[in-house]
Amino acid sequence: MDNCIFCKIISGEIPSSKVYEDDKVLAFLDISQATKGHTLVIPKEHVRNILEMSAETAETVFSRVPKIARAVQKATGAIGMNILNNNEEVAGQTVFHAHIHLVPRYGADDGIHMGFDEHEPDFAALANLADSIAKEVTE
Ligand code: AMP
Ligand code: ZN
Repeated sequence: MDNCIFCKIISGEIPSSKVYEDDKVLAFLDISQATKGHTLVIPKEHVRNILEMSAETAETVFSRVPKIARAVQKATGAIGMNILNNNEEVAGQTVFHAHIHLVPRYGADDGIHMGFDEHEPDFAALANLADSIAKEVTE
């Protein structure tokens, strides 16, 4: 897609540090390197994010994630990894070509803090919410 920085990386118009490539998927180092080895895995097909992704494209991208993640771990010596994805601006998405972040972890002091605030559970509300989501599940 015109003006998409990741499509330009796929076409070679913009350089990248590639770590994996096949006919459908590309993985390259994130320029921000949140930690050493921070890698992005993207479909070659231009799709905005996971909210707009087909099951087929998801299968293609996610099926490559374990082997790429293991390679990143082996090469870096990381002891763990956060695998995450941001969808839309409110969630921190800044590049609107779907991508999965692989963020190798090296220890509590590696500069990354992941976690969610805890909330007191309201089980009736959770059951209602789960029902309303379940009703919306389609392909
Ligand atoms: P997100 O905020 O989830 O949309 O992530 C976008 C990521 O793309 C950021 O972590 C950026 O550092 C990264 N990024 C932006 N431009 C490039 C580029 N030219 N090469 C590699 N990574 C990039
Ligand atoms: Zn694109």
